[in-house]
Amino acid sequence: MTASGLAVENLVIVGSGPAGYTAAIYAARANLSPLLITGFQDGGIPGGQLMTTTHVENFPGFPDGILGPELMDQMKAQAVRWGTRLVEADATAIDLSQRPYRITAEGQTIEAQAVILATGASANRLGLPSEEQFWSRGISACAICDGATPQFRQAELAVVGGGDSACEEAVYLTKYGSHVHLIVRGDKLRASGAMADRVLANPAITVHWNRQVADASGGDWLEAITLRDAQSGATEELAIKGLFYAIGHTPNTRLVKGQLEVDGHGYLVTQPGRPETSREGVYAAGDVADAEWRQGITAAGSGCQAALAAERWLTHHNLAVTVSHEPVDPAEVGEPTRTAESDASNYDPNALWQKGGFALRKLYHDSNKPLLVVYTSPSCGPCHVLKPQLKRVLDELGGAAQGVEIDIEADQEIAEQAGVTGTPTVQLFHNKELKQTFRGVKQRREFKASIEALIGVPA
Ligand code: NDP
Repeated sequence: MTASGLAVENLVIVGSGPAGYTAAIYAARANLSPLLITGFQDGGIPGGQLMTTTHVENFPGFPDGILGPELMDQMKAQAVRWGTRLVEADATAIDLSQRPYRITAEGQTIEAQAVILATGASANRLGLPSEEQFWSRGISACAICDGATPQFRQAELAVVGGGDSACEEAVYLTKYGSHVHLIVRGDKLRASGAMADRVLANPAITVHWNRQVADASGGDWLEAITLRDAQSGATEELAIKGLFYAIGHTPNTRLVKGQLEVDGHGYLVTQPGRPETSREGVYAAGDVADAEWRQGITAAGSGCQAALAAERWLTHHNLAVTVSHEPVDPAEVGEPTRTAESDASNYDPNALWQKGGFALRKLYHDSNKPLLVVYTSPSCGPCHVLKPQLKRVLDELGGAAQGVEIDIEADQEIAEQAGVTGTPTVQLFHNKELKQTFRGVKQRREFKASIEALIGVPA
């Protein structure tokens, strides 16, 4: 027991990408009852970078590919099935100065004998002079989340970068834009051969070699970017309505700064080919310690190594308090349930959560309760993360407010009328009035506080 009266955890895993979940699966099956802090807004979204990918075609076991968010859902379900406990929040502090180690999340300090850091890496930005002005008004870091936005339809779009992400996003955006420009700062693509071939063979994509983006311009929405020739320095304007960044990532090591050895680029240093960091009982897995391979499968593999190493270390030092599984074989996860689109036959005026334009119109006109409208797109990972959080808020409010999901691809007109410029967007209505708009993933308490303010619950 600790001074706070809480038991010291055997193992806390920070991060919920393939590395974190794989570590959790192994640790849970070793009866260590691991606690996994998923992260929420800091350093990307829960589920990690695969949440902002479409089809993952190279993860063994899925011959026809699998959607990134779906793969992460499966890993999460597998980790939970075997007894992993989740804290769905950001870790806000990590203190490795003495054992047991201390990790703070949701205002609580958790003590742990061993820690696995699987915090991944975050998407880089270009830092253009006008970046803030056009952020979410044409500039986006996630083509997969925002591609279906009405403003991008049949418009000229650009992607910056020459890696697999840039190529994947350029191909993906041809579904929505009239033409896609790929802006590459050098004279070759860094992407894998198959991905590069797909781009070069696609007539809807023009590659601009040796070009840097110097700035962006426009009015309320992005209208053009200035490209600079990397060799001559000459500049030219390119008229586009969307600019998508795919320029690599920076490892998320802020919380352990000065406490663990990092390399010149900020990646955690581990023993060669092993997960041990410079501190005993602290392990690194996935992209936070991998500047080279950075694949879902290598992250998963390193998560497995980290869990096995932690288990051995805990056992060797007699620090683990194991918990047997009850029942021995936990119930199978089964198929996820999906909300059906509401129509006249299944619309329920009292349902907490419904889907589609029919339910939106009915609730907007007939209900006097606060109404949360969440605009999503089919492959948007962050939407996937946000929806269960919103459902939880509505659950906690016990029917005092309702929610409707609008797929902006299926209901383009509604999205356009609502001025949606990216997904997820949440609008809060009350008595036919728009009260608040939330863009991107936000904390549960923000939605709850706004709804409670409308229904007169004291803060
Ligand atoms: P990468 O680091 O591989 O590529 C980043 C790209 O951005 C490079 O082409 C780089 O140029 C360019 N870049 C960096 N900074 C700037 C800048 N300031 N201005 C202009 N261009 C810049 O990142 P990715 O996100 O593409 O990929 C990360 C990892 O994930 C890789 O291992 C990749 O293979 C993997 N991945 C796999 C996918 C799949 O298999 N489906 C999909 C997406 C990613 P330069 O080349 O000149 O350095």
